[in-house]
Amino acid sequence: MTPPFTELAANLDDIAQQGLYRSRRVIASPQGINLEIDGKTVVNFCSNDYLGLTNHPDVVKAFKFGADHYGVGSGSAHLICGHSAAHHALEEELAAFTGRERALLFSTGYMANIGVISALLGRGDSVFEDRLNHASLLDGGLLSGARFKRYAHADMADLEANLDKASGNKLIVTDGVFSMDGDFAPLNELAVAAKKHDAWLMVDDAHGLGVIGERGGGILEHYGLGQNDVPVLMGTLGKGLGTFGAFVAGSELLIETLIQKARTYIYTTALPAAVAEATRASLKIVIEENWRRDKLKQLSERFSVGAEQIGLQVMPSSSAIQPILIGDSQTAVDISNALLDAGLLVSAIRPPTVPQGSARLRVTFSALHEEQHVDRLLDALAKIIVSRK
Ligand SMILES: *Cc1c(COP(=O)(O)O)cnc(C)c1O
Repeated sequence: MTPPFTELAANLDDIAQQGLYRSRRVIASPQGINLEIDGKTVVNFCSNDYLGLTNHPDVVKAFKFGADHYGVGSGSAHLICGHSAAHHALEEELAAFTGRERALLFSTGYMANIGVISALLGRGDSVFEDRLNHASLLDGGLLSGARFKRYAHADMADLEANLDKASGNKLIVTDGVFSMDGDFAPLNELAVAAKKHDAWLMVDDAHGLGVIGERGGGILEHYGLGQNDVPVLMGTLGKGLGTFGAFVAGSELLIETLIQKARTYIYTTALPAAVAEATRASLKIVIEENWRRDKLKQLSERFSVGAEQIGLQVMPSSSAIQPILIGDSQTAVDISNALLDAGLLVSAIRPPTVPQGSARLRVTFSALHEEQHVDRLLDALAKIIVSRK
């Protein structure tokens, strides 16, 4: 090997030494509670398909209808000739669902976050981000060129001290439900602080939408906050809604600004219209089927109570994300591998996705799990932990 490549090889060795090497598992089955990996069936505890909609017959049927009607590709960007009646109808339904004037589809949540923050802020402005925000929000803040300030997790005093010193337009950005911890952002306090300092507040509700709130309206429904409190709402479609893509919802003025200025909206191909049709079908189920949210809550509570009983360090979470704090990265990987041997798929989440020394097992539940799945996971965890002592 010659120089730049010898360095790459050394970097990979280094990553492996620290127990941080990442690799993929090849899934041969549909998404769901049971996955087939290497010819073996395992129970899935790491999907974000919280409501069990990725392979729902109505959603699949709508997708097929969409492909039959519109074709597979959307042909171009939304602003050229890729914006179909299906996209348009979905945007209107998402606006109604979130109680906002308008919604705008993006191809992924990552792109939505980068596009929105860069459209609203530039040099001379300031962005404030919770330390535990999703990578796409952090990247969006950095790319915007605004002054970039991270505040301690959910720490209002730290945020306010920074807001006091800020200049230019100000944007506070937070996950609604924190993706690797499962806790909720203090949105009432954040909304008050934003108003007091004439700042915008942006909430990324990737893990709340469809899952939290009586009607599945997400973290903002949970707190009872409207468009005036949280002017910028981002939601993803690939998690609770079970399909793919993302949207931003807010005022007419916000959405028109994004259409003119968000580069990740303008310069990319529209997501397939069939995905929009599938999402319209899943949104209907989200709204109508409360049992999915109720079941999810029961399963999560059963797990958190059971995990505490066997002495695991469960992180405080009232969502479907129930992480168990392990600390050391290699230990987290070893436990995850032992669970896989027992037929249970639980992912080990390591730095830099989470802070140094806070590697964890990120257990997630789906409305399609049964109590016996939860009990089987608890039994396996108890055995593995005992055998390691
Ligand atoms: C998954 C996720 C995203 C990215 O959404 P994609 O549609 O997968 O690109 C953004 N923010 C948060 C908090 C997420 O969990």
